[in-house]
Amino acid sequence: MIVDVHSHMADSTLHLSAEFKADLDASWKDHTIHAPPEVHRQAAAAVDAIIVFPLNAPYSGIVVPNEYVADYVRGAGENVIGFASVDANDPEAPDQLEHAVKQLGLRGLKIGPIYQGYDPLSDEAFAMFAKAEALGTPVMWHHGTTFVRKAPLRFAQPWQVDEVAIRFPALKIIVAHMGHPGVGETVAVVRKQPNVFADISGLYPRPWQYYNALMTAVEYGAAHKLLFGTDFPLFSAADTMAGLRNANALVEGTALPRVPEDVIEGIIHRESLALLGLD
Ligand SMILES: [Zn+2]
Repeated sequence: MIVDVHSHMADSTLHLSAEFKADLDASWKDHTIHAPPEVHRQAAAAVDAIIVFPLNAPYSGIVVPNEYVADYVRGAGENVIGFASVDANDPEAPDQLEHAVKQLGLRGLKIGPIYQGYDPLSDEAFAMFAKAEALGTPVMWHHGTTFVRKAPLRFAQPWQVDEVAIRFPALKIIVAHMGHPGVGETVAVVRKQPNVFADISGLYPRPWQYYNALMTAVEYGAAHKLLFGTDFPLFSAADTMAGLRNANALVEGTALPRVPEDVIEGIIHRESLALLGLD
């Protein structure tokens, strides 16, 4: 079974500010984040199950409503699992999460503190994490770099995930993109926190960093906690799988170690829904 744990929905004509679009174009000229239902169906058809989320980040100029994803998920097969997104700056965030889970049928929480402009170790964020832990909803936490100019990178550090995991030990957390560029720190956190995982989405286009990220996970004995994800619509499942199977290309003919084949296939076939309590 192949599970894509990281895909987005957004209608770029409705949900994005002009500033956000300009920043996106500057970094990812040939890529789109336009993924209305008819586009997202392609991603869902490419795998056995898929997690899809909105993003509620007025700070960065992207607001995709939870209802937009919930409506799509309701009409899709049961292999399409929707997450909610709430903004911890809003005092209603914990209640909005509960509403999204209990009324809209969404099953996890997508956050991006750098996009939303809050400190993940603040009281407001902890109130949101407490609600997520109580509801049993896993958290997909955007980590690492971004094209958004005003997004504060200090709000995406793997050590912050460790602190949240210490405070909320039952909360399942996925560190998106292995926390790039902090892939080593992410592996250190994932290794020691039983309920923290990392996804490999969006990393294959940077082969040197990707190879090192995978080898770091192997050397620390944490590769079994890496989950398959695409970051659709930026990248597809086919390209992500090909990129993973090609991770050793740059060390061919050298004395550098290879990422073991069973590690690569293990990521592609990870039983992520069971690990996240979503099966
Ligand atoms: Zn993403």
